[in-house]
Amino acid sequence: MDAAPTDIPAKSSLVGLTREGLAAALRALDIPEREIRMRVNQLWNWIYFHGVRDFDAMLNVSKVLRAKLAAAYTLARPEVVSEQVSTDGTRKWLIRMPPVDAKDRGAEIECVYIPESDRGTLCVSSQVGCTLTCTFCHTGTQRLVRNLTTQEIVAQLVVAREKLGDFPGLTPPTDGITPSGEGVRAVSNIVFMGMGEPLYNFDHVCDALGVMSDGDGLSLSKRRITVSTSGVVPQIGPLGERSGAMLAISLHAVRDDLRDKLVPLNKKYNIAELLQACRDYPGASNARRITFEYVMLKGVNDSDADARELVRLLKGMPAKINLIPFNPWPGAPYECSDWGRIEKFSDIVFNAGYASPVRTPRGRDILAACGQLKSETEKLRARARLAAE
Ligand code: SAH
Ligand code: SF4
Repeated sequence: MDAAPTDIPAKSSLVGLTREGLAAALRALDIPEREIRMRVNQLWNWIYFHGVRDFDAMLNVSKVLRAKLAAAYTLARPEVVSEQVSTDGTRKWLIRMPPVDAKDRGAEIECVYIPESDRGTLCVSSQVGCTLTCTFCHTGTQRLVRNLTTQEIVAQLVVAREKLGDFPGLTPPTDGITPSGEGVRAVSNIVFMGMGEPLYNFDHVCDALGVMSDGDGLSLSKRRITVSTSGVVPQIGPLGERSGAMLAISLHAVRDDLRDKLVPLNKKYNIAELLQACRDYPGASNARRITFEYVMLKGVNDSDADARELVRLLKGMPAKINLIPFNPWPGAPYECSDWGRIEKFSDIVFNAGYASPVRTPRGRDILAACGQLKSETEKLRARARLAAE
């Protein structure tokens, strides 16, 4: 029988909360209403700009209030269970969230950091697992599913910035790969391409985007935050209106009969409806293009005719096309297209006037690829457990 979780924290952390969340935490301590705004601003600055871990570091907060805060709350981050660093500088963290209630065991999610010469991208998760069942994606085969809270989504960025020495006073890694230096951010971009379907966790994702892009705190540019969706059409317009984030669409097929199979959500919202929602996306322009992701599956969606149809479908739209080599997983019913085929496909798209970078697989040696997150770690652990028995 499973043991009951015993590690439910008595005090909850303020890290990851929205301004409203912090205000509620202060009200619970009977802080007078007229002070709330000012106190929230102070906490905000210390938590998100300075990244402090201790209430005593909050120098402009009175000692009495600091003690009161410390008695009721913490500034704890979720636990980093493991860190793996690839030879190419990619980092993968397995993060365990504290239990949200007595039944919860504490969600485990993975978060990947990809450094490049001109940017550092953090790939975050929006759910544990995913309720959708795209046939090429390993996350879709996971059993356990729940939405992450706003706090859990924001905490991924706080943990990454701390690990990368990206708060004042910390030391960045000296690997020569992670961007660092005066005015340089280790994490400059965020993509919601980890586990889960972000638009099925709409409110928490939008609130988290608000915290991440707040200019007085974590201060990430909204133009550098991309939300990837498999096509939850009714939420696409509202995402643009509420968050101002950049949009990425997991298209993967140009005909409904095939997309119905690869991305079963297509049976609910077909390609025509999806593309219309993209045409109407608030704020899309040539300077703010929509990314279309297209996973290259051998003999399935990778013909010249597919490439030409892709170009035709996207005509007139401010679009970028991102060709993703399929990342195989054990038992997967697909193979990755041959390199020559990917190049041919990419040429057709490129000659039609679209940038079509092929996403180079990063962090292969630490299994940091799309659609493989977490489940690989779970499998490795199960294997290790078996080996130890
Ligand atoms: N649920 C969202 C975001 C997470 S998936 C979505 O589907 O858009 C992030 C990207 O990885 C998506 O484009 C997804 O289709 C792609 N992906 C999933 N499994 C993959 C695999 N095995 N190989 C390559 N790309 C994969
Ligand atoms: Fe879910 Fe995205 Fe994977 Fe589809 S590709 S199962 S929507 S995580």
